[in-house]
Amino acid sequence: MCLPVAGLLPASRSHAARRWTWQPTRDCTQPALGTVTIVQGRREAVSYSVDVESIGRGCHQVLFVKLADSAEVYGVTCDPAGVPVACNCPGHGRHGHCKHRDTTAELIAEDIVPLIPPVC
Ligand SMILES: [Zn+2]
Repeated sequence: MCLPVAGLLPASRSHAARRWTWQPTRDCTQPALGTVTIVQGRREAVSYSVDVESIGRGCHQVLFVKLADSAEVYGVTCDPAGVPVACNCPGHGRHGHCKHRDTTAELIAEDIVPLIPPVC
């Protein structure tokens, strides 16, 4: 888990080529798990600081804080099975899917984002 990891995202309607790269946080005093960069098409590359929190009833929220503009924070909600089901970004509201949700599915599948078991 110390090395950068990368993968592909499923094509969306607007971008056939989409990919992500993950850089884990080296400094353990940093609160975030690491930085993900999402690349869509040839020009669009956006980096986010990523963290995860429990939101109760076995659900989690994976937080994406945009590095260039920390006022932009999106949360992807995961159900108790660890499946990303929703994101609060405008794109998800409009299209029912988004790069944050797709990337969250990848980060969970690669065991990059740990979903903490619920505390009973
Ligand atoms: Zn989103």
